[in-house]
Amino acid sequence: MRLRLRSLMGKGLSILLIAPGVASLVLAANFTGIFQLSEWIVLDHFFRLRPEESNVPRVVVVTIDEADLHQVGKWPIPDAVLAELIDKLKRHQPRVIGLDLYRDLPVDPGHQDLIEVFKSTPNLIGVEKANGNPDRETVKPPPTLASRNQVGLADLILDEDGKVRRGLLSIRLEGDHQIKLGLAAKLALAYLEQEGIRLQEADDTGRRWKLGRSIFKRFEKNDGGYVNADTGGYQILMNYRGLPRNFETVSMTEVLEDTLQAEQVRDRIILIGAVATSLNDLYYTPYDNSQRTAGVFIHANLISQIVSAALDGRPLLQVWPELLEWLWTLAWSGVGATASWALLQTRLLGKTIDSGYSMVGTALIGGGLIVISYLLFLGGRWVPVAPPLLALTTSSMMSVMIHTQQLQKLASSDGLTQIANRRYFDQYLAQKLTEQKKLSLILCDVDYFKLYNDTYGHQAGDVCLQQVANALRNSVRQFDLVARYGGEEFVVVLPNTDAQKALYIAERIQFKVRSLEIPHKSSRVSQFLTLSCGVAGCPPQSKISSTELIEAADQALYVAKQAGRNRTAVANINQSKP
Ligand code: GH3
Ligand code: MG
Ligand code: MG
Repeated sequence: MRLRLRSLMGKGLSILLIAPGVASLVLAANFTGIFQLSEWIVLDHFFRLRPEESNVPRVVVVTIDEADLHQVGKWPIPDAVLAELIDKLKRHQPRVIGLDLYRDLPVDPGHQDLIEVFKSTPNLIGVEKANGNPDRETVKPPPTLASRNQVGLADLILDEDGKVRRGLLSIRLEGDHQIKLGLAAKLALAYLEQEGIRLQEADDTGRRWKLGRSIFKRFEKNDGGYVNADTGGYQILMNYRGLPRNFETVSMTEVLEDTLQAEQVRDRIILIGAVATSLNDLYYTPYDNSQRTAGVFIHANLISQIVSAALDGRPLLQVWPELLEWLWTLAWSGVGATASWALLQTRLLGKTIDSGYSMVGTALIGGGLIVISYLLFLGGRWVPVAPPLLALTTSSMMSVMIHTQQLQKLASSDGLTQIANRRYFDQYLAQKLTEQKKLSLILCDVDYFKLYNDTYGHQAGDVCLQQVANALRNSVRQFDLVARYGGEEFVVVLPNTDAQKALYIAERIQFKVRSLEIPHKSSRVSQFLTLSCGVAGCPPQSKISSTELIEAADQALYVAKQAGRNRTAVANINQSKP
């Protein structure tokens, strides 16, 4: 009972150590960024898996595709055409218009017309490209709109794998005290202002802002699956609404030909942008692997995300504080270690469950982790998946390994004395003999042990055997094997040892046991417990079998007993062979 308790406690302890040990290793690896790509891939899959959202008709995209370009017959589209386009849209009273086309230079004919339209359209926002990086190219805004503060940044932030997963809300240019808003932020704020919603600081960190029903948090370098990301400007994680097909669109030609319904435009956010393949304003999003999405739809997604968060409380994509993410990984590591350990302890129909089932169990739990992460994603939370998954499986595997090791130890050791048992000894000796190196065997037998039992009782006899086993173990080298051969008989295997040296060790063993001073008043050789030993050694390259070697040691033991006990005899191997 005590032994069982000890072994259970031992296992519990290993499991207590596995979980945090594995979690720490995984988290340390996470800091190197090796999980970043897998975390992005999981996030992308979650986006694609998510049921499509109903179309909230606040944003309408006016697309300029190949057909429109052919209709106009020219690129860049002449200012006159753009002026007409904006003019026609204006007639239906959109709340705001975003012109996602770079227009820093005049494109005649009609440049003057366009300037007039710009001047007379206060709800029109143009774009500039103001990359924070001085070595990258910038594109100036249309001067007329710039002088009226009607410009937003068209910059998109690309991850290392080329995909857009973050949106730029604003930047503060170096040496410039002015904050520049992104196109989406500019349009969304202008739209919301008419709903009476304004941006308010949620606290004094400058990182949290309240807008209508939602709190926006600034993206941090290690948010979600990111490791040490560039956090320039005020960024947020994109919580995409969907693909271009999830947005209401009209083509430029439809607007120019007046086939548009007034309701399609009235009081909405109109975004004008190029989608034509030849214009190459295309980017990868979580939805795309081969095809790319026009930049204007990424802006449309960001606008929709901001406006829906403010008006409808649609979740933004938020992350947990870093500490919570670590605990999350630690927790799954613990689940992996304990679940497979518990499973291995389970008995079904009288049989213990083997490690294969534990692997299946772990796979199911891993599936559970992914499902929970997906559900959290649906609620607007991006939680780590790859690190906890790795921690889970590694912990589970280690738990199985320790369990298997302990089973093996249990199967090869003697229950009473905790030294190797007969079965293990047999295997060990047979294996050692195949190496054909010199090797010796000592067979030890307690003298008058039957009388000891008769005098002190069987239980005292058991304790005595444990003490003898300990003394034996402490008398030999680390790589010698001590095993319980039978009732009160022990055997020691001494690799690389000749009979002469073995004799010396046998005498040392005898001395150790004698020094325990276990009283044995019915012994006829001493007042204390004693051993008799038989030694047999085989030289290198000898073809002797284990049976023959044991037989020789046994005969030597017999000789020692016959000669009066409490002594050692050495077998002459050559003589013992027939
Ligand atoms: P000898 O000096 O000739 O070896 O005499 P002996 O009495 O030791 O030899 P014998 O083989 O007659 O008796 C061995 C005794 O060891 C008999 C048995 O009761 C006792 N024994 C064997 N296994 C155990 C055990 O696990 N616990 C206890 N307490 N006694 C055991
Ligand atoms: Mg005996
Ligand atoms: Mg015996």
